[in-house]
Amino acid sequence: MGASAKVGIGCATALIVGLIGSFFLLPVIIFGGAGKDEAPVLVGELNSDQVPAIYLPWVLKAGAMCDEIPPALIAAQIEQESGWGPDRVSPVGAQGLSQFMPGTWPSWGRDDDGNGRVNPFDPGDAIMAQGRYDCFYAKQMAGHLKAGRVEGPLIDLVLASYNAGGGAVLDAGGVPNFTETLNYITSINALTAKYTKALAGGGAVPAGKRLASPLRVTALITSPYGGKRPSSAYGYHTGIDFGTAVGTPVYSADAGTVTFAGWNSAYGNRIVVRHRQRDGKSVETTYNHLFSLGVAKGTTVGVGQGIGATGNTGNSTGPHLHFEVKHGGEFTDPGPWIGLN
Ligand SMILES: [Zn+2]
Repeated sequence: MGASAKVGIGCATALIVGLIGSFFLLPVIIFGGAGKDEAPVLVGELNSDQVPAIYLPWVLKAGAMCDEIPPALIAAQIEQESGWGPDRVSPVGAQGLSQFMPGTWPSWGRDDDGNGRVNPFDPGDAIMAQGRYDCFYAKQMAGHLKAGRVEGPLIDLVLASYNAGGGAVLDAGGVPNFTETLNYITSINALTAKYTKALAGGGAVPAGKRLASPLRVTALITSPYGGKRPSSAYGYHTGIDFGTAVGTPVYSADAGTVTFAGWNSAYGNRIVVRHRQRDGKSVETTYNHLFSLGVAKGTTVGVGQGIGATGNTGNSTGPHLHFEVKHGGEFTDPGPWIGLN
């Protein structure tokens, strides 16, 4: 997302190419000037059970277009706009799942589903256009906020723009005092909670393992730990890569305290959790390239607590979780810790 060179921290190709350990990527990025100074938005992961299965891939895809607009917001907006009715036409002529007006549609619609037509009644085209439109307003309103031209929560400003137009928001210096717009925002904020999975605590490290798995889905290991010695400049992979769809929930591998939750130009959205000591040495786990962060620095987390969702942020060539274990401050193979080998 936004990074210019997507050479992966341990993506599937890293070991084959014999390049790229996380640490050694940093200089490349710094010289490349890529990076991002805004803090990522704190969101829980999508509660996929609530989304009609046929639309889920599109909701995840549209919700991955920009950091400000998570899948849960996309889903909430669709429910508010059309009640998940793909053929819906409103009394004023808004069309499809995302209720685009015929005059607005051509600016945002693309043939995202590849069926040869650009149509607001095609679910894929509609949902992706909605994501594009939301992200456009997120960027625009972030700029207005920074310049002091508008006030208020960014998401509210985006929703107000979607409902009443960006010009009305700018004129009002924030969310305009239109009853319809205010109701729209209130309703979508409530629905966003419905589409966001509660961060559950509890659980225990499974017997015989030192850490719980950070994932509860079957995931392909796209790149194992290791490679050349850490002292070698290239080829050392500091964690395990699990190939996962964007938005897959990530769980803390043990109880602990979040010592970092934020952006790193190489790791993307990253969480570091410090756990109890083992063998008299510190233990930390890290979760990288996340789509969303569900916890903030300083949060106390339980083992198995949801802390975020997987993504493709930072230097990553495809959606995956790069999971690391540090023991006594040194990277170690997470495999034995979570019972993989
Ligand atoms: Zn990796």
